[in-house]
Amino acid sequence: MLYQSTRNNHLTATGPEAILRGIAPDGGLYMIPDFSQIKLDWRSLLELDTIPMAAKILQALLPDFTPAEMDELAKKAYCGKFETDELTPLVPVADRYVLELFRGPTSAFKDVALSMLPQLMTASRAKTGMKEDIVILTATSGDTGKAALEGFHDVEGIKILVFFPNNGVSAVQKAQMVTQTGSNVAVAAINGNFDDAQTGVKKTFATAGEKPLDGAELSSANSINIGRLAPQVTYYVKAYADLVKAGRIAVGDEVTFVVPTGNFGDILAGYFAKKLGLPVKKLICASNENKVLTDFLNEGVYDRQRPFYKTTSPSMDILVSSNLERLLYMMSDCNAELVASLMKDLNEKGSYKVPAEMLAKIQAEFGAGFCGDQKTAETIHAVWEEQGYLMDTHTAVAWAVSEEYKKESPAEPVIVLSTASPFKFPHAVLEAIGQTPAADEFDCLDQLSLVSGLPVPKNLAGLKDAKVLHDTVIDKEELIEFALKKAGEKQW
Ligand SMILES: *Cc1c(COP(=O)(O)O)cnc(C)c1O
Repeated sequence: MLYQSTRNNHLTATGPEAILRGIAPDGGLYMIPDFSQIKLDWRSLLELDTIPMAAKILQALLPDFTPAEMDELAKKAYCGKFETDELTPLVPVADRYVLELFRGPTSAFKDVALSMLPQLMTASRAKTGMKEDIVILTATSGDTGKAALEGFHDVEGIKILVFFPNNGVSAVQKAQMVTQTGSNVAVAAINGNFDDAQTGVKKTFATAGEKPLDGAELSSANSINIGRLAPQVTYYVKAYADLVKAGRIAVGDEVTFVVPTGNFGDILAGYFAKKLGLPVKKLICASNENKVLTDFLNEGVYDRQRPFYKTTSPSMDILVSSNLERLLYMMSDCNAELVASLMKDLNEKGSYKVPAEMLAKIQAEFGAGFCGDQKTAETIHAVWEEQGYLMDTHTAVAWAVSEEYKKESPAEPVIVLSTASPFKFPHAVLEAIGQTPAADEFDCLDQLSLVSGLPVPKNLAGLKDAKVLHDTVIDKEELIEFALKKAGEKQW
């Protein structure tokens, strides 16, 4: 299969090439041109264990890899790496289900994809005979950074450089990154927000595209990389299979997913699952106070010119949702010219408007809602008091949005995606459940464990005393120069 740039249908790449490049040379995102070409019977997946299920789905989406190769890669990526080899358990809570995506090595849902991506990249290097080192550039709103560092550290032939907003991540998130070991890793804080980091990284790609680096190729571990998106399709199918197995639904019944959304990667993977045939009624996009996507899905105008709020769900503090570009491409029947012109508008004017018929198509598949910090806290409190289930702030945003939907369609099975462990945001969670958080966020971990009776995840427990190995801070204007210089260094 050849993947196409969302901005130019003639700019194509094989799966391994798309994975290694991350982003297309014209700034577009690589996309599957036609889902109807993919031969995969979703019904045949329902009986499988999660890891073989992941291999089958990935092989269908990335057919340059053989079934035997993909089986091997999935095993290497996942076996023994998560709390359970089921990877993503589905838990009934009240009249809904919570899909726990945070049982991986860094306690955030990004582990599902970032455990797999290094395997795909290493295999892609072998397939294409690539000799140069790959330098992964990653902008993070908090969780991608650590999950990527964990996935890529000490992987041969690959280096990783992570940028995070200096005051835009939690103390726990920051500690996870700045204590990362490995001879091929670097981490820099930037004075700026996530969008600044993401824009800087995208511009670095553009600069390196014009003037290639000596002996190194840049790539991305953000969800602009198709190899990052594909592994996320699995848990939608797995959740559906769990409902069938538990006798909660019959094969063919429709379910709705509510997804806490930032860069639109997670929810887009749900739409991929639907395109593969999975009976999904609606995908509901849940945002925090930065509700650019809610407005877009309701009105058809994407306008990033608005105040940026720092919220208690920082991984969703995003005003430029990169993967929406892929949705626009799908919803316009691969009209790359239209997508390119919308992206030009976004770049130059800060906003764009989609044609009415395209908006109608999008609204038939997607719902949207948002939830501010106060309601988020109230939701955590209510679900904890009434159901004895403790959720993090991102999950609570989605739960609150699902409430509205559930009122309108009470009989429908609704699955709320849970994207982080409550222990990743202990300060906000403690406050929400009526406790006075300890001054030090690390003490909050033990406090939360005591109050909730839940164990601190192993990967977070040792953080407080871990040695800080990365203390670089740069201005956002310096990012491109810094990244290019670092990428050019042979030895880190
Ligand atoms: C990254 C992240 C999200 C947003 O996911 P997208 O794929 O960017 O939409 C939501 N919650 C948490 C905890 C995350 O880390």
